[in-house]
Amino acid sequence: MRFDQVLFPEGKYKAFTLSFDDGLEGDIPLIEMMNRHQVKGTFNLNSGRFEEGYVIEKRFPNPAPHTVLARDRVPEVYREHEIACHGYTHMNLDGVSPRAQAYQLVRDIYELEKLTGKRVLGMAYPNGSYDENTIQVARILELKYARTVRSSGDFSLPEDFLKWCPSCHYHAESCLELAKRFAAPLVGPNRRLQVFYVWGHTHELYGYDDWNRMEQLLELVGEKEEIWYATNGEIVEYLEAAKKLIYFADGTRVTNPTCQRIWLRSGHKYYPKVYEVGPSETIELPE
Ligand SMILES: [Zn+2]
Repeated sequence: MRFDQVLFPEGKYKAFTLSFDDGLEGDIPLIEMMNRHQVKGTFNLNSGRFEEGYVIEKRFPNPAPHTVLARDRVPEVYREHEIACHGYTHMNLDGVSPRAQAYQLVRDIYELEKLTGKRVLGMAYPNGSYDENTIQVARILELKYARTVRSSGDFSLPEDFLKWCPSCHYHAESCLELAKRFAAPLVGPNRRLQVFYVWGHTHELYGYDDWNRMEQLLELVGEKEEIWYATNGEIVEYLEAAKKLIYFADGTRVTNPTCQRIWLRSGHKYYPKVYEVGPSETIELPE
């Protein structure tokens, strides 16, 4: 009995991604740490706040500098990661009129694309705040994903990427436990694709004195052969492409009509083989 399943690049079952908000100075040491552990992430920026500068947030045990990076530093700082939309001025979107919501999103997308020369693929809802109109606006603006602030507590993929719940906040008590579980070997025939998705803000790393905790997290999940390190956008675009695979009716061939390489497993449930289908390629599969 044959069993087919799409896999992540290089035939992997696991992906790890980070998502940090507000475009802060603290993103610079975080990115240095991420690069050291070969981890990728998405940074959600408010392009209407680039001139805001320096604020110390006092609601944490330690002073937390919420210093927004200046516009001209953005392309260089985030060069190896993804920049995504977070609303032009960080306005709460829930209950706001659709045209004001559309402005918050499209103006931010426009400014970020102009600044970086890269397409904005998704967003994080500012303060996690959205309603049905926000989702409609995001869809019209061809955003492929939007992150909420509700933790799933697991490694599942969302049914709707415009309501993408992260696994956990980095400061959550369960975060390092989840990291250990995620890093443990995945065995058995019923392996599903897993995404460990962690989010936060870098001023919290100062406010809770959490830099060591972050280092611990990245030590647990970073630099592992069996994990794909990807931005939010890379995960969504890959899965979108994988959905476009076309099977011959008898299942003996599969065509990849996209411009991405796609991996899948096929064959006996307990002894599958991993196949790679190149762009515009058709490969044969065992019956
Ligand atoms: Zn924010």
